[in-house]
This record gives sequence, C-alpha cells and structure tokens, in this order.
Amino acid sequence: MIRFESVTKRYPDGTVAVDGLSLEIPDRSITVLVGPSGCGKTTSLRMVNRMIEPTGGRILLDGQDLQQQPVHTLRRSMGYVIQHAGLFPHRTVADNIATVPRLLGWDRGRARSRAMELMERVGLDTALAKRYPYQLSGGQQQRVGVARALAADPPVLLMDEPFSAVDPIVRKGLQEELLRIQQELGKTIVFVTHDIDEAIRLGDMIAVLRTGGRLAQFAPPDQLLSA
Ligand code: ADP
Ligand code: ADP
Repeated sequence: MIRFESVTKRYPDGTVAVDGLSLEIPDRSITVLVGPSGCGKTTSLRMVNRMIEPTGGRILLDGQDLQQQPVHTLRRSMGYVIQHAGLFPHRTVADNIATVPRLLGWDRGRARSRAMELMERVGLDTALAKRYPYQLSGGQQQRVGVARALAADPPVLLMDEPFSAVDPIVRKGLQEELLRIQQELGKTIVFVTHDIDEAIRLGDMIAVLRTGGRLAQFAPPDQLLSA
C-alpha cells in the first residue's frame, strides 16, 4: 500500500503545490487523483516515484519510507505513463516496449516475445511491432505507452492524464482496456485526470484535490458528494 502522510510540496519559488495531503492508496485497485489544472495532481504522482521529493511529511510504500529506498529499485517497481506516451521516436514499437526488460538484462529474444505478448494484451495488432511511433495513431501510441510501462511487470502503475489527448471514442476504448488489464493483472494504479467523468468511470477510490493542493474528498465513486 502507498500511504501519504501529511505530504507537502513547496517549490523553490514558494508555490505550495501540495499541502498536507494524507491518503491511503489501496493495493490492486485504481485510485484516481482528480481536480482542476494546477491543483497538484502531477506533483503528487511524481512524488510516488521520487521524480519530485516532498518538502514535508512522508510517503510510505508497504510501510517503508520512500526516502529509504534507492530510486532505481523504486522506479523498477513502478511503470509510468504520460499524456503523449513519451515514446522513443527512433525505436520501433517492439523496441520501445522492450526497453526496460533489455535494461534489466533480458536477452533480445525474450524481450521481444514479451513485447509481442504485451501488444496483444493492450489490444495492439502485433503487425505494428516494426513501426515507429510517428506511424501510429494517438490511441495506438498510448497503448504502446501502457505496454511499455507493464513490460517488467511492476506492481504499481502511475498514469498522468494518459488518455486526455485522444478523441473521446478512442479514449473510451482505452479506458475499457485499462479496466480489463487491471482486473486481469491486479496492478495498483494511481491515475491522474482533470476529467471527473473519467475519474468516476475508472476509480475504485477517488481523491478530489482543490486548488492549493488540499484534499477535498476521498471516497469511492458512489459516495462522492457533488462539489
Ligand atoms: P496539476 O497536475 O494538478 O495541474 P501540478 O502538480 O502540475 O498540478 O502543479 C501544482 C502547482 O505547482 C501549480 O500551481 C503549478 O504552477 C506549480 N508548479 C508545478 N511545477 C512547478 C515548479 N517546478 N516550480 C514552481 N511551481 C510549480
Ligand atoms: P486514429 O483515427 O486512431 O487517429 P489514424 O487515422 O491516425 O488513427 O490512423 C489510422 C490507421 O493508419 C492506424 O492503423 C495507423 O497505424 C495507420 N497510420 C497512421 N499514420 C500512419 C503512417 N504515417 N504510416 C503508416 N500507417 C499509419
């Protein structure tokens, strides 16, 4: 379980992006951080894999302070997906997906078959394996991003507005795939969005943040009070 204990992030210019956030993110379910632009969602997410360090409070992973865990170990246990997929433009789809397994020392053949397996899992035709990212639609690129994040089978997936840049119909398909993947693989997913409908569709638990980085509500979707 990931646990935020009175977590605060004050940037060097004095901006308080996250203010005293306390939150328990249950294992093997989807927790959505939702709220208006600038309310501290991305900052909160990036503190979980230590791309950003808190300036107050602490975050625990399975009871252990994140600060005590080496960053590379931590990042291996957490896949990360962002809005424009962040794919490597000069690598094929298969090589993008196989990036982390290769870094972990898997041989080429094993990494490749893992990439194919993941393409199927995220609903991508394996015939696309040799294409480059620019040859894919936006929705396909996001699927590659999800497959890449899953490649080393991390228990945790961090997702920052992964579907916001694709059109509504494709987005719906991606949301359904994510729910299916979550059910099949039982990942712990922390999902950031500014879209309350998306939050309600995906979230087992929903953390509503408000401007200034404070938690307004934390509840399952059927118990959210309309804001
Ligand atoms: P969200 O993801 O909800 O849009 P962010 O976490 O990106 O919010 O940002 C929260 C607040 O922190 C905003 O006011 C933003 O302008 C500010 N902020 C983000 N990054 C920095 C930074 N590196 N330096 C100063 N302020 C920042
Ligand atoms: P979407 O409607 O999801 O945005 P596109 O219209 O971008 O999809 O693409 C439709 C199909 O054409 C997809 O299967 C995609 O892989 C393929 N495609 C798009 N751009 C290229 C390209 N530059 N080269 C080859 N195939 C492409």
